[in-house]
Amino acid sequence: MSETKAMKYIFVTGGVVSSLGKGLTAASLGTLLEHRGLKVVLQKYDPYLNVDPGTMSPYQHGEVYVLEDGAETDLDLGHYERFTGSRLTRSNNVTSGQIYEAVLGKERSGEYLGKTVQVIPHVTDEIKSRLKKLAAQQTCDIIITEIGGTTGDIEGLPFLEAIRQFSQEVGTHNAMFIHLTLVPYLKAAGELKTKPTQQSIAKLREIGIQPNILICRTEHPLSIDIRNKLSLFCNMPTDNVIEQMDVAHTIYEVPLMLQKEKLDKLVCKQLKLDVPPANMEKWQRFVQQIIFPSKKIRLAMVGKYVEHQDAYKSVVESLTHASAEHSTGLELLQIDAETIERDGTEELLGKVHGIVVPGGFGDRGVEGKIAAAAYARTKGVPYFGLCLGMQIAVIEFARNVLGWTSANSTEFDAATSYPVIALLDEQKTITQKGGTMRLGAWECRVQPGTLAWAAYGAESVSERHRHRYEFNNNYRESMTNAGLVLSGLSPDSKLVEMVELSGHPWYLGCQFHPEFQSKPTSPHPLFSDFVKAAIEFSNLTA
Ligand code: GLN
Repeated sequence: MSETKAMKYIFVTGGVVSSLGKGLTAASLGTLLEHRGLKVVLQKYDPYLNVDPGTMSPYQHGEVYVLEDGAETDLDLGHYERFTGSRLTRSNNVTSGQIYEAVLGKERSGEYLGKTVQVIPHVTDEIKSRLKKLAAQQTCDIIITEIGGTTGDIEGLPFLEAIRQFSQEVGTHNAMFIHLTLVPYLKAAGELKTKPTQQSIAKLREIGIQPNILICRTEHPLSIDIRNKLSLFCNMPTDNVIEQMDVAHTIYEVPLMLQKEKLDKLVCKQLKLDVPPANMEKWQRFVQQIIFPSKKIRLAMVGKYVEHQDAYKSVVESLTHASAEHSTGLELLQIDAETIERDGTEELLGKVHGIVVPGGFGDRGVEGKIAAAAYARTKGVPYFGLCLGMQIAVIEFARNVLGWTSANSTEFDAATSYPVIALLDEQKTITQKGGTMRLGAWECRVQPGTLAWAAYGAESVSERHRHRYEFNNNYRESMTNAGLVLSGLSPDSKLVEMVELSGHPWYLGCQFHPEFQSKPTSPHPLFSDFVKAAIEFSNLTA
């Protein structure tokens, strides 16, 4: 694309019900457009009043996805980064909380010069100014903006009004609207029903938005009659009514399904983008590996928020990417750490080929996780500890190898006589990246001759963090003398970023979250080597 071309904007709204997978659909469109040679950036407008999702419970909201700059964002941004090459920053996740905070701040400092401050124009102007700022920072061809929530939500109105105004300002062919909706199947009537969609579109039209494309989530194929009906009521050509059936195997099928329905072609036509079709061969091969694996491994993820299917989203996706790379199927047992405390490790972990302990906060289930780490260490089962999972490995080592039975993190026992994981004084001085929390990307030096070195093949790597507590340096000497390997350190060597066990086939804990950087066709090296070790373990135990 030539530099002089105008920036194009796609707005994705959702209707009828929430949880339709707008983020996934927006990300999948991003994939298709990128495969046509366009540079795409995605962002999300979240109408809720929280300033960011950092303080929201994973039970409520699923995983908090951390960006390179330390922003704690909605998990849809994880889809955006995994499905496209766009590197996102805190400007790519705008919430009502941020908008109102900014507007009220301006009001207090007198920036509105005594005017009455109102939703239109002050709140809508603030929303538009964020979009303009993002566009000015980017060298991309297209910005795709997903509006969170469902059409008709009170909190969403200012965002819808703002994007309506914005589309007028940039003109037809530079902005378009895609509405994702549900077309439910009524079993008793034996038919798909279009009325909820008609009403959702009517709501949008009330605001002054006429969607250009309708994407229909459905359990049954849309007949030509249904397509015609939707076309008539929703005021768009039949071709612009697109079917998005539930995927049979994996979310990575979504871009391929939407390509079959010609979504990317319609978008390019609407926005007058003259670009070649998308070559999705590599993506297709990746999907085939997931659907038709030549072997299978069984992994256990021992966590706390396992009932919420999205709480460990990026970890699950990273394991999927790595498994596909090694042509192996993945059976992932999500185990509540408290059940290990109750039923024992042998019962729950006896048949697995690898154990993952993901990140987490608070002491519930910690003892179960420590038991899982002990099991992996003593039985030679591959172990991968992410953030809290590394801290668990360190506590387990201190208790069971060094015999410091009361060893703990001060997060769980402030009075422990062996605070092997603790708040460091240096840590307390970090203020620029979110208080005492270490957030965002930090450089890590990888030590030669370690598993981490073998995986990364690099001396220096950058990984994202989200934690408060650290390995306590007072115990470095005793621990390393007893066989703990410090395989990753901060550039000033003051912070332990990765630990391993000498003599174990694959046992690694990292203080960061590698799961935020894995992509479908380029899995993260640590996940890749962990899965490889699990395959080797499964061959041994077969
Ligand atoms: N609760 C631990 C800490 O704050 C680990 C955090 C995490 O796993 N993200 O250090």
